[in-house]
Amino acid sequence: MIGTTRRREQGLADPLLGQVMGEMGLDKVPLYEHQSKLRLEYRARIEACTPLRNGPVGPRRREVTDPVTMAEDIKGRARQFGADLVGMCALHPVMIDEGFDCTFRNVIAFCHHESYDEVLKGPEAVSDEAHRTYWMVAKIATEMAVWIREELGWEAVAHHNGGTYIQAIPVLWQCGFGELGKHGSLIHPEYGASFRPSFVTTDLPVAYDAPISFGVQDRCTVCQVCSNNCPGDAIPEDYIVDMGVKRWLTDVAKCYPYSRLRKEYCHLCVDVCPYNAPNHRDDYRAFMTDRKKYGYKTPKMSDD
Ligand code: SF4
Ligand code: SF4
Repeated sequence: MIGTTRRREQGLADPLLGQVMGEMGLDKVPLYEHQSKLRLEYRARIEACTPLRNGPVGPRRREVTDPVTMAEDIKGRARQFGADLVGMCALHPVMIDEGFDCTFRNVIAFCHHESYDEVLKGPEAVSDEAHRTYWMVAKIATEMAVWIREELGWEAVAHHNGGTYIQAIPVLWQCGFGELGKHGSLIHPEYGASFRPSFVTTDLPVAYDAPISFGVQDRCTVCQVCSNNCPGDAIPEDYIVDMGVKRWLTDVAKCYPYSRLRKEYCHLCVDVCPYNAPNHRDDYRAFMTDRKKYGYKTPKMSDD
């Protein structure tokens, strides 16, 4: 199966980031230059997972006659590894990087949620928490891939920030992790968009999950909390419909000056979304007032 979705280059390899840096007269990325000890430690832990993404398969393959029971086993084990969400679906070319030839049929998705209490502490804490969560999901996918290979005797490859050819959003949507919001991230009923994903690709037979709908896409057509609070005015009101799903296309060139080209992490569109903070209205006001110190906009509450 040949992938069809173009991957945006990451970091300094991204030509759009280079273009915006040129326009701002920058030769370094402030966010990348400014790294806490904790973030560097999490990055090192993610890199330590990379050599285990793939590896030798055990000598005895366990034949699977009941994919439903197999899926339940995987989900229980993933939760023991630390996953908050686990789902499975058949791979489709849009879920794979353009031009990559993937031989596997199935993908297993995992998510671990970010703590909203950490979000309320400000940009530094948000960035540290994001890195902790990226490390957790890298660990979960690695442990699962190793278990499938060594204990079940099926090939399995882990995907995370230390290496992937998987396109996250279409897989997470198909696995029933949520609906796509105006801010461009998937929204889950319990965790909002405060979670980070990882994946395992495999031919191990498993029962599939299905997409869910709980009113997000309709709400986003009238709610403006993220777009009103976005410091770069990067979130559009208009949407396109792609394969039956509404998509609001974030203007990445307008987002970069805040999400990459300052030393404070942005992430504000997700942090202010009512699905992230449904029970934290007072905390939210204090949070936004605090964020103003870092140059963000005046807090707005237009979703009430
Ligand atoms: S990360 Fe910040 S600048 Fe980028 S879209 Fe979200 S709120 Fe706007
Ligand atoms: S803040 Fe409002 S418009 Fe933005 S993603 Fe959340 S619900 Fe949708």
